[in-house]
Amino acid sequence: MATPVTERQYQGQVHEHSRRLMNEWMGELGRAEAEGVPTGALMISGNCVELLRACHVLPMFPEVTALQNAIRKKSLPLILKAEQAGYSSDNCAYVKADIGLFLDGGMGPGKPIPFPTITVCNYVGCNVYVKWFEHLADISGSKLFMLDVPFCRTAAPSAADVQYVVAQLKELIALCESVSGKKFDIDELREILAYAARAEEGYARAKELCKRHPAPFDAYFDAINMMGPINVLRGMREGAEFFDAAVAEFEGLVAQGHGPLSEERFRTVVEGPPPYPFYKSFRNLFAKWGAVAVQSTYSTVGGIWEWGFRHDPRRPLESIAEQMLTENLTNRSIVARYAQIKRCVEEWEADALIIHSIKSCRLFSAGQGDMRDYFTRELGVPTLMVESDLEDPRYYAEAQIKNRIDAFFESLEHKKMVGRAAAAGEASNSQGGRAAAAGEASNSQGGRAAAAGEASNSQAGRAAAAGEPTRRRAEASSS
Ligand code: SF4
Repeated sequence: MATPVTERQYQGQVHEHSRRLMNEWMGELGRAEAEGVPTGALMISGNCVELLRACHVLPMFPEVTALQNAIRKKSLPLILKAEQAGYSSDNCAYVKADIGLFLDGGMGPGKPIPFPTITVCNYVGCNVYVKWFEHLADISGSKLFMLDVPFCRTAAPSAADVQYVVAQLKELIALCESVSGKKFDIDELREILAYAARAEEGYARAKELCKRHPAPFDAYFDAINMMGPINVLRGMREGAEFFDAAVAEFEGLVAQGHGPLSEERFRTVVEGPPPYPFYKSFRNLFAKWGAVAVQSTYSTVGGIWEWGFRHDPRRPLESIAEQMLTENLTNRSIVARYAQIKRCVEEWEADALIIHSIKSCRLFSAGQGDMRDYFTRELGVPTLMVESDLEDPRYYAEAQIKNRIDAFFESLEHKKMVGRAAAAGEASNSQGGRAAAAGEASNSQGGRAAAAGEASNSQAGRAAAAGEPTRRRAEASSS
């Protein structure tokens, strides 16, 4: 029987460091109103957080507020409040948790989560963003700025697309100046972008380290500790330093051969956001099989930094526009997502793909059935699909999910065993083959000897044959 897999009881400094920085940011948000600091609501995917920081507008992210409430198991009453107010059960649960927070009195003037001064809807792919931020602007009375980012239709954005976004960024700068009362300084933005690029380099390096066996951290469950700093604190010195420290820690773990579990039995790539209300128990279902995510699409939702893009302080507005256009998961087609996952499976040497389908997020979930078929049938990648929700606990059926995960890994383990046995059989066959070949060689030496014997026999035969006429001639002469 296999040794049970245990979790390494070490969360490292990354976890604590991330928590501290995120708490500091939440503290700043809570004080913003009293201190007269303007705030700007943004979406995570393809955000221009650097620009807001350069404009002295403190960024806030309703998605982060929603997921934090889910992790703390506070999301259901908020969702129910929104549903009572008329939001459909089919709506994105992030939206309902956010609107429910307002209805519940947790967001607004004098609350820990303030109303934003401006609501910047950086529309990248998910059309829920538009309605959500219209509602947010409506309830908060904040100025709504629609930042329309064209869908990514080609591998690289066209010059016209970049200019289109840059023109809107300039309008956004003017709006920020009007609420902050401070003049925008392009050199300050360049400095912020240099910190952003350093953080992006660090995040990419950390992800690269997961190519090692074992991976030093789980690139789905542990990556969440880095997603806060990369999406929220990008452009801050503290964010850049966080990644310097994280990379140093992960390099240390790689050098010691440590992964997040006592044993890495299966390497997976995970598609889709996690079920935040059941984060830990969902993780445990994989951990007990020794399954470690070495890559995930969710960790790239705000930028696929491992593909090499970096903000460029020499082209500040253009590089922000390019990032918003291409470097995020939500602004790409499902086919581009296939290509991303395929590359992750191959380069990170994964054994399987896990799809966590989210009931209330159509952007992520539409097409995942076809995705499973494509990976299973066309590429031969073992693929498991389980369904629940990222925010709404009513859709998480642990017993069913557990059964499917257990059945999947049981069959994967069996496959591995058969593979190992076949490989061992092949090796022994090839040893047998070598022995047979050696036997054949000795046979063929024997053969050569036999052939030589035959030849000598045939010489003898020839001699005999030569003797025969002699004999016959002698017989004839004697007769
Ligand atoms: S539908 Fe999905 S991508 Fe869109 S806001 Fe909701 S969770 Fe985010």
